Amino acid sequence: MREDSTMPATIRVEDVSRIYRVGQQERQALKAVSLSVGAGQIVVLRGRSGSGKTTLLNCIGGLDRPTDGRIWVAENEITRLAEQRLVQLRRQQIGFVFQSHALLPTYSARENVDLMLRLIHMPREERQARVEQVLHLVGLGKWMEHRPHELSGGQQQRVAIARALAPRPAVILADEPTSELDTTTGQQILQLFRRIADETQTAVLIATHD
Ligand code: ADP
Ligand code: MG
Repeated sequence: MREDSTMPATIRVEDVSRIYRVGQQERQALKAVSLSVGAGQIVVLRGRSGSGKTTLLNCIGGLDRPTDGRIWVAENEITRLAEQRLVQLRRQQIGFVFQSHALLPTYSARENVDLMLRLIHMPREERQARVEQVLHLVGLGKWMEHRPHELSGGQQQRVAIARALAPRPAVILADEPTSELDTTTGQQILQLFRRIADETQTAVLIATHD
């Protein structure tokens, strides 16, 4: 399905501010930010270090709460959800990719992705097919049994992307996903996000400082 003006955005951020209080000091990390990302769209947030990118992604992903403003993800107003519902929504609808892949070192690529599906209680019979599908999608069909240390940095990040994608989230949030990779590998990872947005109609929001 393509986005059109009658369809609600998958991510909608309205006038979001986030003020951190550190002792007596206040630090405004976000000031009245608004944006929206539709299904199949990819949006890149560019800004120098300290400009609030991580804060915004954390607010959208329900890891932090804004001081002001409202956020919807897949038509759920996450800024109003109680913690328990938020945990559920996060697992089902939001895939996170971080700068460092955070894969379990003793688990194979297959096991790392499968773990995510066990968390959402996907039935065992469906899990295997889904794990293989997403690992093929990210180009790791031949690397499924390898452990992280047997993979390159780019391949490790592909496993992390497959893991984020496995539960069929409406949204993928990627915080500096290429900053530990060389330029060429980083470009390939960005192309992969582009293809994922196209093929799966996921809304993809990427933060980068360059
Ligand atoms: P970016 O990801 O663009 O580098 P951040 O969102 O991490 O920016 O930080 C934005 C601002 O908020 C910075 O000034 C940072 O120091 C401050 N900040 C971020 N997290 C916290 C926190 N937990 N407590 C206090 N200040 C914070
Ligand atoms: Mg950051």
